[in-house]
Amino acid sequence: MKIYIMTDLEGISGVRRASECKSGLDEYQKACRYLENEVNAAIEGAFEGGATEVLVCDSHGSGFNLDLKNMDKRARYCENNGIKELMALIDESFDGYLNIGHHAKAGTINAFLDHTQCGESVFDYKINGVSYGEIGQQLLLAGDYDVAQLMISGDKAACEESTTLSPDSISVSVKEAYGNNKVNCLPPELGCEMVRKASKEAMSLIGKVKPFKIDGPYDVQLTLTRTRFADNICKNKPFLERLDGRTLRYVTNDIKEILMPF
Ligand SMILES: [Zn+2]
Repeated sequence: MKIYIMTDLEGISGVRRASECKSGLDEYQKACRYLENEVNAAIEGAFEGGATEVLVCDSHGSGFNLDLKNMDKRARYCENNGIKELMALIDESFDGYLNIGHHAKAGTINAFLDHTQCGESVFDYKINGVSYGEIGQQLLLAGDYDVAQLMISGDKAACEESTTLSPDSISVSVKEAYGNNKVNCLPPELGCEMVRKASKEAMSLIGKVKPFKIDGPYDVQLTLTRTRFADNICKNKPFLERLDGRTLRYVTNDIKEILMPF
């Protein structure tokens, strides 16, 4: 039983300020320890539930948030390969994936550090007229390999976003935002215990949760916050149609190409 774990930092229990998510600042080191503990809890739960192999994708920012000397030795670790390859090394050999420490998409009310890819520049991202954040993008990318999301942890808004798309996945809310950067948060020890239990339970959902898929072709529209960001993205990408100052469009039949505009 082979499990993929996708990680992020904003939705980890104990992380309560934007500065904790920026590498280089002192608070970031503390947040990484919380991240390591919560990811270890998810790994522990997965093995308790019957997993035999676990691959963790360390994917906040450019990866390299986890110090592997602190990590469970039974799992293996990789980094995302930039925005275009969010879920590095995912393929059809996995029996399901867990999403640990996630955040809601850009524009969500009462969501801790809501954003979609680049927080400063992305206003909205749509496929076939439906807005998707990173949670939805990951569901689609994994779904293309017939891999379902079994469980998600993060703030309440992230869990609600996931439940709308994948109602049969387990969701674990470890904090609730009031505003964009204020949270009512559990102590991380409690969050880790909830994540461990949910991860173990999630193993029993293998084969029961359907992989998330939508019909193609995929009409992708990316709306930026400023025209200058749209100017930059358009450079050397003749396949992008400029619908207006801030919105770029293209159509693809391959779900793996939905992040091509970035
Ligand atoms: Zn992140």
